Amino acid sequence: MTMIVRNLQLVRDRITTACVAAGRDPASVRLLAVSKTFGADAVIDAMSDGQRAFGENYVAEGVEKILALRAWQAAQAGAPAVLEWHCIGPVQSNKTRLVAEHFDWVQSVDRLKTAQRLSEQRPPHLPPLQICLQVNVDGGANKSGAAPEEALALAQEIAQLPRLTLRGLMAIPEPAIDFVAACAVHARTRAIFDQINAAGVLPAPMDTLSMGMTADLEAAIHSGSTMVRVGTAIFGKR
Ligand SMILES: *Cc1c(COP(=O)(O)O)cnc(C)c1O
Repeated sequence: MTMIVRNLQLVRDRITTACVAAGRDPASVRLLAVSKTFGADAVIDAMSDGQRAFGENYVAEGVEKILALRAWQAAQAGAPAVLEWHCIGPVQSNKTRLVAEHFDWVQSVDRLKTAQRLSEQRPPHLPPLQICLQVNVDGGANKSGAAPEEALALAQEIAQLPRLTLRGLMAIPEPAIDFVAACAVHARTRAIFDQINAAGVLPAPMDTLSMGMTADLEAAIHSGSTMVRVGTAIFGKR
């Protein structure tokens, strides 16, 4: 067993334990393996243990890895099912086309202009791009993410774009001092999520609350996360 496979299993155990502690079904939380800065070989290693969803922060690096994995899979007899790639880093205007052409999800949309470009540039032969609206839940200065009070209006506008499907919210709060503090900030994201769904203005309710990383996945799951994004605990220090 490789280190990555062993780590993956430990992370799955953490998710299961946190779900049980919170009285939740472990199947209600998805694991996104954040492979940024690691090579295609690390992704292949995680795939060998059934991991299919991967997150990348840097567009050029992500696209390079997506293409490398596609070529590897094409060359492989009986290769596992296709991967699901999530863009989780800032998307500059000049990168939206690359993102729209190669990724399956974008979790880091925080303004309408980016969403409009992604919708216009999503190739017609691909399914709609799956979108999370990133919310700057703790108001960290010069941090990306929409302000909580803009989230409802933005979600409503994004949900109307033809080549996108709004799936949920994503947040990256500042590191908290302890479990209770981490739960408190994640609960605020959860409240925004619930308020938007309760407003009844979306074509379909959002089903994805993307929060929790290596350090705070237990607190995020306690607070209702449906997708944890884990890098370090799987692939090691960057
Ligand atoms: C890097 C990154 C992660 C993973 O963080 P770890 O602490 O290594 O688990 C999750 N989400 C985003 C947006 C990231 O940039």
